Amino acid sequence: MMTFAGSQQIIEVIYLLASALFIFSLKWMSSPATARRGVWAGEIGMVLAIAGTLLHHGIVDYKWIAVALVLGAGIGVPLGLVQMTAVPQRTALSHAFGALCVTLVGTAEFYLRTPDVPRFMMAVLSMEVILGSLTFTGSLMAAGKLQEVLPQRPLTYRGQNFVNLSLLAISIGLAAYLVLHPGAKQLFPGMIGIPLLFGILMVVPIGGADMPTVISLLNSYAGLSAAAMGFVLDSKLLIIAGALDGSSGLILSVIMSKAMNRSFTNVLFGAFGQVQTSAATDQEAKTVRSATAEEAAAILSAANKVVVVPGYGMAVAQAQHKVRELYDALSKRGVDVRFAIHPVAGRMPGHMNVLLAEADIPYDRLLDMDEINGDFPQTDVALVIGANDVTNPAARTDANSPIFGMPILDVDKARTAMVIKRGMSPGFAGIDNPLYYLDRTLMLFGDVKSFVGNIVRELGGQG
Ligand code: NDP
Repeated sequence: MMTFAGSQQIIEVIYLLASALFIFSLKWMSSPATARRGVWAGEIGMVLAIAGTLLHHGIVDYKWIAVALVLGAGIGVPLGLVQMTAVPQRTALSHAFGALCVTLVGTAEFYLRTPDVPRFMMAVLSMEVILGSLTFTGSLMAAGKLQEVLPQRPLTYRGQNFVNLSLLAISIGLAAYLVLHPGAKQLFPGMIGIPLLFGILMVVPIGGADMPTVISLLNSYAGLSAAAMGFVLDSKLLIIAGALDGSSGLILSVIMSKAMNRSFTNVLFGAFGQVQTSAATDQEAKTVRSATAEEAAAILSAANKVVVVPGYGMAVAQAQHKVRELYDALSKRGVDVRFAIHPVAGRMPGHMNVLLAEADIPYDRLLDMDEINGDFPQTDVALVIGANDVTNPAARTDANSPIFGMPILDVDKARTAMVIKRGMSPGFAGIDNPLYYLDRTLMLFGDVKSFVGNIVRELGGQG
């Protein structure tokens, strides 16, 4: 029979393997070519982590664990099957569940150990429950805004930042008192309740367009709270996984903020994303030129160089396979077709890469903004497929625009720009796009999937 020490060693080896797989998973996920392998590594790592935990000697009864596993799988499987465009809110819900779990574990640990909680232990336990509780309600709010069950626009009032920061300061104050007096049990509910309220109030003034960045930040909080839980439970695996989660979430938020030329403070306190109604009125006075699928097909087939700019509309319409057919039809005619990928096109980082990879468009045809922007003046046709904000020249030219300074794809510099969208509605930032009124721009009005299908048919492909 296996000894206690023997099985403990096996658990440690399993945890080591799981930790290594988590690290490789992140490494592989950073490139489209190895991303699938990265997902598999992460999944196998998580299965190993769960298996290792189930081998612990401390477990005397598996009944409730089995119930929790069935319940978790019952919620997790449908969540995993949502449409790609709903992934940001799905991710927010995952963070909410993770944060709730961390908070509950922290609460149980506190009541089991109090009043004999060493200071370091109480400090990390406080960090665990404060970050866990604010991430729980903050993530639920973010998911609600993205799912549009809550109003997307930022709700602001005078003194809002003062109220929010005061709540955070009170929570930290309670934590400090508990570190010194861990027997003061009556304060513990306050250390959970106040951050729960803070989580809600923190997300209220942030607009829907900034939610993906906020989710990424909450991801980092969830990771840090899990790492703190690792210290409380003396689990190296949790510390490693939490630290990876915390740092990658933070790096992602920084990348996203940079791609939108926004600072963290502007994202968190800038109340960005209010729809500008004046822009909508302006646009009625201006005129645009539109074209049919037949005309668009003729222009595309006469071109030597075409750059496709995909955006959120392609994702919503699930048009990536039709776009692949268009790529095939044009390539067959000798047209050089490349794809320009803006870092925040769509609703999550890498959104376009994932969709185009799903449609088997060769990776070497996908170019990042910095690689392709210099080529637009030599491009015959820039074909914008359901993108809007990421092509808006106002970001370059209009100092009053809310997106001024955000790096964009220089579609307006191409010889001809063609834009497929259903009407003149703005994109997520809620602002008008001067690109549409240029002489060299042709609007192709219609649903992305059917319009691209019609062009393909005109080109003699399947359509
Ligand atoms: P936008 O949201 O700016 O525009 C999408 C356009 O697609 C809309 O103007 C809409 O116009 C059109 N559209 C929607 N559905 C369809 C359809 N079925 N057929 C045809 N057209 C359709 O998307 P972008 O990708 O250009 O920009 C992303 C925005 O999201 C940016 O503002 C970015 O800052 C923000 N964001 C992105 C993050 C990320 O990580 N990717 C993170 C945070 C914010 P119409 O209704 O007229 O059809």
